[in-house]
Amino acid sequence: MPDLTPDEFRALGHLFVDAVADARAGIERHPVRDVVEPGTVRARFPREANEDPEPLAAFPSLVEAVTGDADTRWQHPGFHAFFPANASLTSLLGELLSGGAGAQGMLWSTSPACTEVEQAVTDQVARALGLDETFTHDGGGGGSIQDSASSAALVALTAALHRAAPDPDSGWRVRGVTGRERVYVTAETHSSLAKAVRVAGLGADGLRTVPCTPGSRAMDPAALADTLAADVAAGLVPVLVCATVGTTSTGSSDPVAALVTAARPYRAWVHVDAAWAGVAALCPEHRWVLDGVNPGPGPGVDSFCTDAHKWLLTAFDASLLWVRDARALPAALSITPAYLRDAHSDTGAVVDFRDWQVPLGRRFRALKLWAVLHGQGLSGLRSHLRGHVDLAAELAERIRGHDDLELACAPVLSLVCLRSRSGDAATTALLERANADGRVLLTGTEVDGHPVVRVAFGGVTTGREHLEVVWDVLSARS
Ligand SMILES: *Cc1c(COP(=O)(O)O)cnc(C)c1O
Repeated sequence: MPDLTPDEFRALGHLFVDAVADARAGIERHPVRDVVEPGTVRARFPREANEDPEPLAAFPSLVEAVTGDADTRWQHPGFHAFFPANASLTSLLGELLSGGAGAQGMLWSTSPACTEVEQAVTDQVARALGLDETFTHDGGGGGSIQDSASSAALVALTAALHRAAPDPDSGWRVRGVTGRERVYVTAETHSSLAKAVRVAGLGADGLRTVPCTPGSRAMDPAALADTLAADVAAGLVPVLVCATVGTTSTGSSDPVAALVTAARPYRAWVHVDAAWAGVAALCPEHRWVLDGVNPGPGPGVDSFCTDAHKWLLTAFDASLLWVRDARALPAALSITPAYLRDAHSDTGAVVDFRDWQVPLGRRFRALKLWAVLHGQGLSGLRSHLRGHVDLAAELAERIRGHDDLELACAPVLSLVCLRSRSGDAATTALLERANADGRVLLTGTEVDGHPVVRVAFGGVTTGREHLEVVWDVLSARS
């Protein structure tokens, strides 16, 4: 038998669930990040894989022995680095069902369940966020669950390239990248846009960095309009404008509505990268993150992306990408060899999600998100988000009242950027000292060329007591 029997699985499964539960229950007994030398974990492996089967019952303790002192614990409540990667136990239950089904949802007919749960759940989340009905499958657009915001940006760019080069005679309208296509970002835009430009083969000149409004970290709409006009006059083709809501560095946001207005005359695709901040739209008081995204009064954007796998309790990978035109991604990405031809696809009445992404195959990702929606409800999600926004507000308040620390910029949602009043060296030392403590993990960035310490609240179990730990390490005298 090349696998466990269902009964063996049942018995072992309890052991594995216990291992996960024990690890989460005891996580605060460990530092957020273990200090290890490169090669430590690999050195514990024999060169060759074991020839004979070993009992799986011992596997959790083997994993613990090999890796348990050499990890960075993203699920530790003191993890405030980068952005969170919520892997709630609720979502892991959904993951288990998804793995159990083992479905491969490339076409509607290869798993109607995978496809339609994803449609239903992305429609529900669109409505919960307050996205316009045109972003839903019911409303002529639709959502899909990508592996990452990076992939979402790449497929949005591919659709934009397709739309920008109309050639009704060929199936694939872009006859090839000409070197004249341009994508508009700022210095604050996530690096995944630059990567998408590279992958799409647009070349180094394909990326245009538009200046920010002086004194801000937000794209200057007048500068965008000028750059677009100059580029078109020079024979270049504006393809896509990326507006960020909640940049990775400091949480700043571009003025989406004004960028849409500037891009509109050139029919450039407007993509909103709200990978971290977008989920905050679940709370009415944070719905500003959608300003300019929906149609009315302005025309709205073409695509909107936010990661359920950052701050929305859903284990990686679950990046939500909505488009307003359900045909846009398939028009750019659909290729149908004989072995993928399908009667249901031919009717045009179903969605084949393979045409909404780069890979062919896809996992049943929607189950973990559905489990989260089912088990937490929108009210649970809102209180998760609000708790962390409150922590950030409180931390910012304490920093304002401190004689050595200061805010590097206004806090945004659950992100606080701070520095020492004593200068760059002191700020760098502050970050090192905080992380050496072991109870927290913070990362740094730069604002106007100067180092800054970021505190990104958002862990599944991060609460008020963890704010006290952050304050303890930040306010301690060197
Ligand atoms: C984290 C982040 C990304 C990349 O997210 P992935 O889903 O890991 O690809 C893109 N944009 C912004 C603004 C981010 O914060």
